[in-house]
Order: sequence, then C-alpha cells, then structure tokens
Amino acid sequence: MRPLTEDQLRRALVNATRDERERLELPHDFPILEWDHLDFLAWRDPTTRSRGYVVAELGGEPTGIVLRASGSVQGGSAMCNICHSMQPGNQVAMFTARRTGDAGDRGDSVGTYVCADLTCHENVRIAGPLAPSEVRASVDRRIDGTRHRLESFVERVASAA
Ligand SMILES: [Zn+2]
Repeated sequence: MRPLTEDQLRRALVNATRDERERLELPHDFPILEWDHLDFLAWRDPTTRSRGYVVAELGGEPTGIVLRASGSVQGGSAMCNICHSMQPGNQVAMFTARRTGDAGDRGDSVGTYVCADLTCHENVRIAGPLAPSEVRASVDRRIDGTRHRLESFVERVASAA
C-alpha cells in the first residue's frame, strides 16, 4: 500500500469519534514500516489495548476503521476469520466495529473473530506451506484471501458512509 502519514491515518478512520481519532496511538514500528510489503495495516493501540485499527486501500483510497476487542476465545483453539490461521483460543479475539452513518447511529456494529494482535498479515506468511505438496501458489492464495476478507470487512463497516 502507499505510505501514509500519521495525519492521513487519523483522517482515514471512517467510523471513529473525534475522541477516538485523537487518541489513536501509532504502532511502535510505524517509523520503520515497509509499506511496499503491506496489503493493509492493522494494529492494537499500544496504550488503549481494547482498541485496534485496520486501514486498507479501498478503490485506491485509504479507509480505516476502529475496532473494539472483547474477550478472547476461552480454551481450545480457534480460527481467525481474516487470515484463516488456527490459533490457541486465547490468541483469537472478537473484534467489533461500529458501522458508519445512520446504521452506526442506530447502534449497528459488525463483529468477527480475528488474531488477537491483528497480525494476520504476518501470520498468513509465517504459516507457510503445510506440506511439501502444498506449493507456493496456495500460500499466495491464502495471502490474497486474507487481503480480500480484510477489505470486505472494512467495506461492511464503511458501507453506510
Ligand atoms: Zn488472523
């Protein structure tokens, strides 16, 4: 994705209140992010841990949403709905986002289970092929799928904008 400044990131948040926009804290690695390698940007707020942010390029425009984390899955294992990684339950959390516009004013939100640290972008790459027969193409498909599911989620939140 194209590099964004801190100001651009704040302005990209479509479902944030003024307070949320002002309080946003950048990820620690923001100064060294390799934007060229990112399909999207997602992070947990380093200070307000109950908040997370996702910024994707929709139709070439940076579009960001604020997420609220509610508890992780208790016990067992769980699958992230964005990158489809299987994780220990405590590493997958429910994230909800208030929808934009009238829907959000009525209290509508969209929620899904996501890697608790919002590290799907890395996880889908770290996971690697499961078997030697699983060739590079299938890893690329998982990466494409992750990006597609992430963008669809942002779209659902922003659709009423
Ligand atoms: Zn994930």
